[in-house]
Amino acid sequence: LIQLFRPLDVLGWVYRTIRQGLIDMAEMFRLIDTDIEVKDKPGAPALIVRQPGVVFDNVVFGYDPGRTILNGLSFEVPAGSTTAIVGPSGAGKSTIGRLLFRFYDPLSGRVLVGGEDITQVTQESVRAAIGIVPQDSVLFNEDLAYNIGYGAEGADQAMIERAARDAALTPLIDRLPDRFATMVGERGLKLSGGEKQRVAIARTLVKNPPILLLDEATSALDSRTEQEILATLRRIAEGRTTIAIAHRLSTIADADNILVLDHGRLVESGTHSALLASRGLYAEMWARQANENREELPVAEVAG
Ligand code: ADP
Ligand code: MG
Repeated sequence: LIQLFRPLDVLGWVYRTIRQGLIDMAEMFRLIDTDIEVKDKPGAPALIVRQPGVVFDNVVFGYDPGRTILNGLSFEVPAGSTTAIVGPSGAGKSTIGRLLFRFYDPLSGRVLVGGEDITQVTQESVRAAIGIVPQDSVLFNEDLAYNIGYGAEGADQAMIERAARDAALTPLIDRLPDRFATMVGERGLKLSGGEKQRVAIARTLVKNPPILLLDEATSALDSRTEQEILATLRRIAEGRTTIAIAHRLSTIADADNILVLDHGRLVESGTHSALLASRGLYAEMWARQANENREELPVAEVAG
């Protein structure tokens, strides 16, 4: 019976989450296997973000009791700066994002946004401060304006058009028969991966959050589209606090600070050049990726 009821619980949770305007996060965090709900403290006030810095203070966390994923993680992302998080698959990078967005609470330690412990304020106000661009974004079978405005209550046409422009969607929209009223999604116009990411960026811009969380936002794209989307992301990150989780190190080499995570521990941090000089895990990963790129070269030469 428990087996039978669990899926219904999960569906209910997904439904409530979609209602709260978190469909992108639903994708990103694969809500289907995330059925724990964090509750607000009674009478918790809303978070008021003045300086949108982020702090992880000795955070211990695991999804299952007995297996910790983050083992006493501490770092600080100063307001307005860009911090990249890199490390092997399974290191706990996306878990950091889930804790920041308060899908879970740490077992011990604290997550601070704007100096406030996020367990002491409303979940809604924490989430309102953070815009997420995940690897794959979900489009609804609705028109483009709906897809851009989704999740930002009270977004008007002017806000949607400005966000679309800032996300560099204008060339696409100019080509569409009904512009913002064009139906997209599975049953409408199918957008390319890059175009979908631009819609996700526009959706985030309508929200205008002081904090941006990019979780492998360009890793599903071909390298040329990746470069184009990265240029847009760099522009919108200006003036915001940005956490960029990345697989391809070349995409985050210019970050103010790079955190190297391995098995839920911070093993190194610093700028790209400092990390290369220290010849640790980052330098090793960098060399490996450079090597992979070189191996692709002969093919390109033959093709050219
Ligand atoms: P990364 O983003 O660095 O690849 P994740 O943070 O997604 O890593 O995952 C870290 C570890 O947590 C992995 O071992 C993964 O299998 C585990 N994990 C992730 N999500 C869940 C979950 N919902 N339930 C149980 N374990 C999970
Ligand atoms: Mg991940």
